[in-house]
Amino acid sequence: MQIKCSFCGVPFSLTQEQIAEAVAIYKNDSHAHFDAHCPKCRRSTKLAKKIFELNPLTRKMLEA
Ligand SMILES: [Zn+2]
Repeated sequence: MQIKCSFCGVPFSLTQEQIAEAVAIYKNDSHAHFDAHCPKCRRSTKLAKKIFELNPLTRKMLEA
């Protein structure tokens, strides 16, 4: 799953482990955010559940 750093704009992908972690967070609290750390600038981009709902693969995980 590709995302974009909100600070430096660099595109990077989340690992399966990170996706699983994020899904677990949203299942616990749908208003929570998952911090994805940029490999370039090291800052964390906050990802809302909405981003995962737009991706067909992660949407299935959220519904499971
Ligand atoms: Zn960055």
